[in-house]
Amino acid sequence: MHIFDTKQQVTSYITSARQGKSAKIALVPTMGALHDGHLSLIKLAKQQADIVICSIFVNPTQFGPSEDFNKYPRNLEQDFNLLDEVFCDIVFAPSTQEIYGSSIEKFEKKIQHADILCGAFRQGHFEGVVQIVGKLFDIVKPDVAIFGEKDFQQLFILKENFSEINIVGAPIIREADGLAMSSRNKYLTEAERKIAGKLNVILKEALEKIKSAKNSAQIDEILVLAKKNIISSGFTKIDYIEAREQNNLELTTAYSNNTRIFAAVWLVKTRLIDNYL
Ligand code: AMP
Repeated sequence: MHIFDTKQQVTSYITSARQGKSAKIALVPTMGALHDGHLSLIKLAKQQADIVICSIFVNPTQFGPSEDFNKYPRNLEQDFNLLDEVFCDIVFAPSTQEIYGSSIEKFEKKIQHADILCGAFRQGHFEGVVQIVGKLFDIVKPDVAIFGEKDFQQLFILKENFSEINIVGAPIIREADGLAMSSRNKYLTEAERKIAGKLNVILKEALEKIKSAKNSAQIDEILVLAKKNIISSGFTKIDYIEAREQNNLELTTAYSNNTRIFAAVWLVKTRLIDNYL
């Protein structure tokens, strides 16, 4: 496995790999602190391409001023070992300077669907995501890019903004109790970790009930009850719990094959997100 930290190393490797051949390239963007969810994306990428590149970059522009950019878990050596074990071909782990130069510019483009769900609580987050993914796409020029359904709104927005790239979604990988794997799970205390495992159960139950709801008032009642369950289970705050249609992210008024339930909740200082179809 090659470990690169400059754009130049990546572009010259790719240029020579593509010379005279049609090498298909897959990109898997991550922020590191890798777990089995990330590794499932690499495995999927291996099935779709000849060369798999995993980027590891904690992107400052997608974090708000009061968010966890500074304390976000970073463990590059362990990440490299894990990626090597799943036969990743290239890791691209650049510095902030390598990506943004000496001053980090703000992304000014208005992004559709960036003001609902997580976007309503994380102003500027999806603008930062589109900015960094655009930069990575410019460097790697991948044929395919893999993103997890764990961050479903991110996957949706990226498909909308980069229609020229084949963007593939990958299913959510979960712990034994159903907790969606996340680098942020490392923040949880032992007691919080037990509570965290209840979110997926409440979401699945609520989605089951929504399947037989007769109208949007009944869907609202189900979601209100789910919110009560979340708080009585020990979660400390709810950003949102909503049912939306996964093909357009409109609020669900009647259950369909596209109905996905979404939630973002807090356990003291840790924000967890999850969704189910
Ligand atoms: P992150 O490092 O959190 O930015 O995530 C990098 C990629 O891994 C994103 O496309 C995420 O959606 C995906 N991902 C994170 N957690 C999981 C998971 N539990 N299952 C599947 N994909 C995931």
